[in-house]
Amino acid sequence: MSLNVGILSIQGDVQENLLSTKSAIDELGLDVKVSEVKTPNEISQLDGLIIPGGESTTIGQLSLVNGSLKILKEKIENGMPVLGICAGMIMLSKTADDRVIGKTDQPLLDILDIKLERNSFGRQKESFEADVSMDLIGIPKFNGVFIRAPSVSDVGSGVEILSKFNERIVAVKKGNVIGTAFHPELTVDTSLHKYFVNLVNSSKK
Ligand code: GLN
Repeated sequence: MSLNVGILSIQGDVQENLLSTKSAIDELGLDVKVSEVKTPNEISQLDGLIIPGGESTTIGQLSLVNGSLKILKEKIENGMPVLGICAGMIMLSKTADDRVIGKTDQPLLDILDIKLERNSFGRQKESFEADVSMDLIGIPKFNGVFIRAPSVSDVGSGVEILSKFNERIVAVKKGNVIGTAFHPELTVDTSLHKYFVNLVNSSKK
């Protein structure tokens, strides 16, 4: 039976993640299916999930309203691998403050024990690309695309730091939960999506 990876399609760059995941699956030659998911029923059938970048307040509010937030939390807490990208990493976090406006009251999954600063590198016009590395998971050089990106200002116990840029933490991992401040779906390099598909595959065995 093939494995099911879902891209949470509530808001954000869903198509880009769909394409990167498809390329990763093809390159790995694994029997994995990838599809867009939104409803609690679709989410309940997943073996792995990518929460794309976008606007975390919108993703949070809409998934709360459509009843998905609860099942997302349950599935991830029960071990389903998840990759949270930018707004997706914000969704996974325990606490998120905005760099300028401070505390924002937004629904979060409260799964990763990290403290986040939203829009940490500035607003849209301060977006940039920079080389980052994730040596701990065997990705020594990667093109990091940062768009209104958060950074991690504090990590709890057991959270591994995968990557730093300018002294700020920009990628973390705890068990099957990965968060990145940058957008791997916006580069041609599929290393991180391949790493994630492999993680889904091995955690199901
Ligand atoms: N700044 C956005 C937020 O706070 C995240 C940006 C992104 O996902 N590219 O939700």
